Amino acid sequence: MIRLVVLGSGASLPTLQRHNTSVAVQRDGDVFLIDCGEGTQLQWRRAGLRFSKLRAVLISHLHGDHINGLVGFLQTLSLSDRTAPLGLLGPPGVRDYIRAARQHLGLRLSYALNVEEHSEGVIYEGSDYRIECATLDHGVAPLGYSREEDARPGRFDTEAAASLGVPAGPLFGVLQRGEAVTLDDGRVVEPAQVLGSPRPGKRVAYCVDTRPTEAAVRLAEGADLFLCDSTFGDDLTEEAGRRGHSTASQAADMAVRAGAQRLLLIHISARYHDPRQLLGEARAVFPQSQVAEDLMELSV
Ligand SMILES: [Zn+2]
Ligand SMILES: [Zn+2]
Repeated sequence: MIRLVVLGSGASLPTLQRHNTSVAVQRDGDVFLIDCGEGTQLQWRRAGLRFSKLRAVLISHLHGDHINGLVGFLQTLSLSDRTAPLGLLGPPGVRDYIRAARQHLGLRLSYALNVEEHSEGVIYEGSDYRIECATLDHGVAPLGYSREEDARPGRFDTEAAASLGVPAGPLFGVLQRGEAVTLDDGRVVEPAQVLGSPRPGKRVAYCVDTRPTEAAVRLAEGADLFLCDSTFGDDLTEEAGRRGHSTASQAADMAVRAGAQRLLLIHISARYHDPRQLLGEARAVFPQSQVAEDLMELSV
């Protein structure tokens, strides 16, 4: 199961209700932080996340509302005596940003910071999942991220296993891992006899900031959860386009085209104190829409 914690859900102007957009993505103890605006490290603490579990920070682009908290965040990890290496993955320019912080801000770290610049493709391979990115449409080149698990084995049919004479216990686990077992009487039971068809891995996509773009639709293809730039409502469609953002209904349209299961509207402008307008506009296009709130948790 992938667990997401929304650390911030707002656009460029942080408010008491909405910090700058940032999300923690957690699975099997590993945590990835996506974007790190001002105050993200405090939200991280409020969410009860553990710094020691952090594997990498992913940055969408070098606009302040997505990176202004990064140097402080990295320093706090250092002050917490981190020694494990940390990945920092972002668009071209992120290496220069860190170099400038080391040179002018005295950034000194107790751990190796492995900075990688990317613009598309698979950027991180875990044991049974991968993270890929693509360049979106925002003026500066922002990266959208998608995290996808490998396909999982089908459901284990305990009744079928019992009827084949497999004793409950460790042999169930062997079959669930996709290996055949030999019973005491010499008969061999194959996994296909007790497992349903393979289930696709879970997929989560994060696309801010961006105008509507095919690159975001591709990243969100078949996603169980799609987090998408919804800075404005239909009242400000023209402004959204001019400033390189999407409206809630445009995000919903991308979710439809991607065949996503659920949409989370995020990067909400501070002008929408009551987000029901955005929610209504999105749901008119894609009913499985929700508005992100700070410290909201979601599981997929
Ligand atoms: Zn932004
Ligand atoms: Zn931006």
